[in-house]
Amino acid sequence: MKVTAAVALAKGEPLVIQELILDAPRATEVQVRMVATGVCHTDAIVRDQLYPTPLPAVLGHEGAGIVEAIGEGVTSVEVGDHVLLSFSSCGVCSSCVSGHPSYCIHLYDLDFSGARPDGSTAFTTDDGTPISSHFFGQSSFASISNVAERSVVKISKDAPLELMGPLGCGIQTGAGAVLNVLRPEAGSSIAIFGSGAVGMSGLLAAVVVNATTIIAVDIVDSRLEFAKTLGATHTINSKNEDAVARIREITGGGVNYALDTTGNKFVFAQMTKSLGVLGHGALVGAAAPGTESPIDIGSLLLTGLKISMVIEGDSVPQTFIPQLISLYEAGVFPFDKLVKKYDFADINEAFADSESGVTLKPVVIF
Ligand SMILES: [Zn+2]
Ligand SMILES: [Zn+2]
Repeated sequence: MKVTAAVALAKGEPLVIQELILDAPRATEVQVRMVATGVCHTDAIVRDQLYPTPLPAVLGHEGAGIVEAIGEGVTSVEVGDHVLLSFSSCGVCSSCVSGHPSYCIHLYDLDFSGARPDGSTAFTTDDGTPISSHFFGQSSFASISNVAERSVVKISKDAPLELMGPLGCGIQTGAGAVLNVLRPEAGSSIAIFGSGAVGMSGLLAAVVVNATTIIAVDIVDSRLEFAKTLGATHTINSKNEDAVARIREITGGGVNYALDTTGNKFVFAQMTKSLGVLGHGALVGAAAPGTESPIDIGSLLLTGLKISMVIEGDSVPQTFIPQLISLYEAGVFPFDKLVKKYDFADINEAFADSESGVTLKPVVIF
């Protein structure tokens, strides 16, 4: 069938909206008609080929839509179900069966290789040229796509599909690092480095669990002001102030929990130094392979602190995302405040606004 897709044709170039041919859903695939999709930083870095998913490609990995058809063997959804799309995983490796699919040993092949395991792609041009598909198992920058069943999360028909897509990656990444990994106790302190969509989601999660000292650290004052409206009790502009000294002062010796959403080696070092005794820090920001950050192992041994590396919030999307929707519906997780909607035709504007920081979390509407 013919579909409309935003295609990444060449490295660093804007996406081009064009018609493609979509094949029939294969076994364990779900054909989804997209209603909306978030735009995430990872789409931009693959468009720019920091990760080598073969181009041309249909990217997009925060899709939300309605099941149009199902392939053989699909049991988790039916035609007409409302679904949200997350990362894909194999379901059978040791990480997957132990409840940590974001560390699936086949994650790269299933999410970044641009093809099915047999090498075929779901999309082709009119003349039969293959176009990479199955990005994060979904390739949601297309009006209809064939999605790996492992990427599909069935959600209630009451939930607003136009808004839900970002729960599949960016929001899950920040909120999951806090709710699934750091797990701050009520009354504890947490510092969040970086106040993009991921950092703000972590902040909202810290509010949910009643952390009472929530420190947002960034270098943009307007972001910090916004963080206050979401529940930050303190803000630090680390361009003007020594973030480590200020955090130690606010918390009387160091923070209980910390989240680095930047992937910047200097910020990571600041995070480790800002933690108090028995503190727990998590890194969720991506850095280029080979990036090293100095840690003072001589001093830190005495503190008993922990550092976790966290992908996709260490979540099982099929259980965690419905929990986030429940929190949103209960009015305690207002992630919609991070979202700005764009027409699908304006997808490159959505990318640009995300990059410049004008918009925290763009969602394009089909
Ligand atoms: Zn696996
Ligand atoms: Zn993402």
